[in-house]
Amino acid sequence: HDTDTSDLIRRTIRSVPDWPQPGVTFRDITPVLQDPHTFRRLIDVFVYRYMRQRLDLVACVDARGFIIGSALAYELNLGFVPVRKRGKLPFDTVSEEFVLEYGSATVEMHTDSVRPGQRVLLVDDLIATGGTMTAAIKLLQRLGANVLEAAAIIDLPELGGSKLIRDTGTPLFTICQFL
Ligand code: AMP
Repeated sequence: HDTDTSDLIRRTIRSVPDWPQPGVTFRDITPVLQDPHTFRRLIDVFVYRYMRQRLDLVACVDARGFIIGSALAYELNLGFVPVRKRGKLPFDTVSEEFVLEYGSATVEMHTDSVRPGQRVLLVDDLIATGGTMTAAIKLLQRLGANVLEAAAIIDLPELGGSKLIRDTGTPLFTICQFL
């Protein structure tokens, strides 16, 4: 993708200081989604990157990952599978717990959502500590998926998540960074 597109996306993202708590700057993608031109440019970055990759599925993290991932899966003619927070999926699940700054969280997938050997792209909106993505990668791999790449709009590299993900051996693609 070109720098014009990543610059457009980067400057359309709204930074909200001290939300949801003091000291955190929330990177809000709703202005990107709200503008039809910017939304299309965003999805097209991923479309052009993955259109020749012979993927089977797009797996997405609850909840903002769903917005990007469903548009992308539709455009690429791929299946969509949700990775959800604990207790949301109705059928048999596998789960993976991960640590947060205060406490822990769990992500879940349906046991039949991926068949062994399927080529999967994992999508979320933002990488902070990388805990969410790393847990989702582990879940997908436990189900036998071949996670070709993880992708996000935003990387916060100072929090170390992107390095953590790449260190586990899964390639990671992000469109822009905030330091
Ligand atoms: P982490 O597991 O620490 O990499 O956090 C990533 C998840 O938390 C993503 O699903 C993001 O949507 C959300 N998140 C974490 N930090 C922020 C932030 N500063 N702005 C927006 N979303 C964030």
